[in-house]
Amino acid sequence: MKKNLMLCPHHALCLQFFIGKGYGDDFVAGMAEIQRALWEHEDRTVLLVAGTDQICARCPNNRAGVCEAAEKSDRYDQKCLHVFGLKTGQSLSWRNLIQIVKRTAVLSPRVRASICSDCGWDSVCRKQQAKLLAAMSVSMETEKHRR
Ligand code: SF4
Repeated sequence: MKKNLMLCPHHALCLQFFIGKGYGDDFVAGMAEIQRALWEHEDRTVLLVAGTDQICARCPNNRAGVCEAAEKSDRYDQKCLHVFGLKTGQSLSWRNLIQIVKRTAVLSPRVRASICSDCGWDSVCRKQQAKLLAAMSVSMETEKHRR
């Protein structure tokens, strides 16, 4: 059985919008691997951790297990935990976690912005979120017309 994946709470949100951009090639490759593995195995258990996680492992901002931007990342983690209604130390399947993340933050640009609008990647995630919401409303319209 696969080991639990350790994940900082805010990375559960980053993974919804990640499109191959990040802090250098190695970081992007590592994050893409994790994203692919999670999409392919939604039953994988995720353990919510404080500090740094397996995504941080290949980040140039990771200084011996401490994020150089810890003030920001900790703040994003706290906000995510509050919005998701979860706590660090909790483990749940990726499937359950994405349902919570989608329901609470992905479906609401206002909520997402309240968590991480001062992140350097905000414009990328904002565009991805808008695309996702537009695609969802198109598919809901199509579904309505089918009935
Ligand atoms: S910036 Fe910090 S929190 Fe984000 S991936 Fe790098 S080490 Fe982790």
